[in-house]
This record gives sequence, C-alpha cells and structure tokens, in this order.
Amino acid sequence: MSLFSAIVPCYNEQENVSDIYDEILKNQSYFEEKNIEVEILYVDDGSSDQTVNMVKELTKKDSRVHLLSFSRNFGKEAAIYAGLCEAKGDYVAVMDADLQDPPSLLPKMFDAIFEEGYDSCATRRVSRKGEPPIRSFFARKFYKLMRKISKTEIMDGARDYRLMTRQMVDAIVSVREYNRFSKGIFGWVGYKTKWLEFENVERRKGETKWSFWSLVMYSFEGIMAFSTVPLSIASFCGFFFCIVAFIALIFVIIRALIFGDPVSGWPSLVSIIIFIGGIQLLCLGILGKYLSKVYLEVKNRPIYIVKERI
Ligand code: UDP
Ligand code: MG
Repeated sequence: MSLFSAIVPCYNEQENVSDIYDEILKNQSYFEEKNIEVEILYVDDGSSDQTVNMVKELTKKDSRVHLLSFSRNFGKEAAIYAGLCEAKGDYVAVMDADLQDPPSLLPKMFDAIFEEGYDSCATRRVSRKGEPPIRSFFARKFYKLMRKISKTEIMDGARDYRLMTRQMVDAIVSVREYNRFSKGIFGWVGYKTKWLEFENVERRKGETKWSFWSLVMYSFEGIMAFSTVPLSIASFCGFFFCIVAFIALIFVIIRALIFGDPVSGWPSLVSIIIFIGGIQLLCLGILGKYLSKVYLEVKNRPIYIVKERI
C-alpha cells in the first residue's frame, strides 16, 4: 500500500470544498487498482467564510480528510508549503480548490511516475480561454522574460498542480526561504519531470482571489527570487553612464579650448541632471527591493502559523 496526499489550499472556497473532494475520489477505482490509499489535506488560508466548517463536516464523515487552518491569510505560497510539510504521503499533489486543476488527470500523472519512471508529473495549460486577454498577454510576457533572465526553467502556463514523489517533496520542504515562488522552487530542486498539457478549465464556483495588481506583484516576487539580472541592469546603467560622462567631459574640454567658454547649455544641463537622477533612483530602488527581501529572509519568521489541526 502507498499513500497519496492531495493538498488543497483554500481561501474562501466554501462552494468548492465538497466538489473537489468528490472529484478526487472519482478516481477511487484507479487508486484501488494500484493499491493507493488517499488522504485529502485542506489547508485553510485564513478564510473568513464557511470553508473551515465545511471541511470539518467532511472530516467527521471521512477519516481520510484532514484540516490545517491558519491563524490568518498567509497567501497561497504559504499554504502550499504548509501542505507539503504536513503531508505524509509517498506521493503528493497540490491542487486548487476551484477545480482548475482537473483531478481527472491524476491517473495519467501516476502512470508517468509508476510506468515511465519520472519523479514528478507537472501540468501546464496550453490555452487561457475564459481569462481576460490583458491578463493572458502579461502572463505570457512574464514567462518569456523569466526564461530569459533565470537559470531555473519555468514553463509557460505552468500550474502549481503536480504529483511528486516523497523524495522530491522532502527536497522542496528543505528549501525554507520566506519569499516563496513555488513554480521556481519545483524546477530548482531538479528531478525528472514529465509535463502534461491540458486546456484551461474555468473556475467552477466563486471568484478568483488574484487581482491584476496582485499578480503583477507576484511576478516581481518570482523575478527577484530566481534572478539577479535586475541588479546587473543597475550596474550596467552605472557603467554606461560613466562612459557617456567621460566622452561628454572630453567634448566639453575641447570645445572650451577652441571656442572659449560662453555660458550656454542650461536646458541640456538640467535635462541631463534630471535624467541621471532618475536612473540613480531607479537603480537604488532595485537595490532596495533586494535588500528588503534579504531583510525579510534574515528575520526568519515562520512561513505560516497554524491555528487548528484535524
Ligand atoms: N488561495 C489561497 N490563499 C490565497 C489566495 C488563493 O490559498 O491567499 C488558493 C485558492 O483558494 C485556490 C488557489 O489558491 O484554491 C488558486 O486561487 P485562485 O483560483 O483564486 O487563483 P487563479 O486560479 O485565479 O490564479
Ligand atoms: Mg483558480
């Protein structure tokens, strides 16, 4: 017998709690055939609706259901990490409560590990139908940029939904950084991964928890966690403007020697000062961003705080 843990991060998902339970257990015959026991671990990320009570109902009905409830909203990344820390399974999968990560893919994912010898089977959506076009556009650009500036490969449309072996889960749990970007960490720990593709599924019930702005901030998080290219850009700007300044200096000296020193060029001087000032502030900002990440990292606060455990 091997144990499979499904981790379901939930933030105000009262409508979806029982649906995802049903959908996961629709694979029951497959699980029985392969001798797999199932546990479903709901990680309540400080929901303010009935999510916790709904899960409690399920735990009473079915001993395979577990609940981990946070003291407040810590974010999906924290919920994923908590789930991975607490899951006992030999195989572990993270899946969204809203059924955008189809549980019907599980048999295929298990087959990739059992039959094809992979350590993990990840999923990516190849379409983004049903999503606002502007969101898709920036998401695509983000993945493209990420692939260029980071050594860790992050697939376009990659989901957090993936099935992993115990060995890989332990590796991920050992990555204890505070500013977490799971998609990057999954790739960073290595291991042989098979990618399954699927057409985007729209959220079954409720609403997305991510505004456009929170996604933009999340993408910065990802870039800073997995690339130091912005810092190199800052140094490059400094280097570039040193050279420009040097050339300008020579030009000014020669002009003064030939034409004397008439007072002119005030507008250009002001433009240059403002421009360089802007670049300096930008570079300082980039530096500050990384510094703030380091600050949060050295504080070494726990990634999540548990209020209740069933
Ligand atoms: N989620 C969470 N904490 C948060 C935000 C979201 O645990 O602060 C969970 C949410 O309940 C869902 C999953 O993360 O199970 C994905 O969230 P959502 O569907 O809102 O994101 P989207 O699919 O729109 O990117
Ligand atoms: Mg969703």
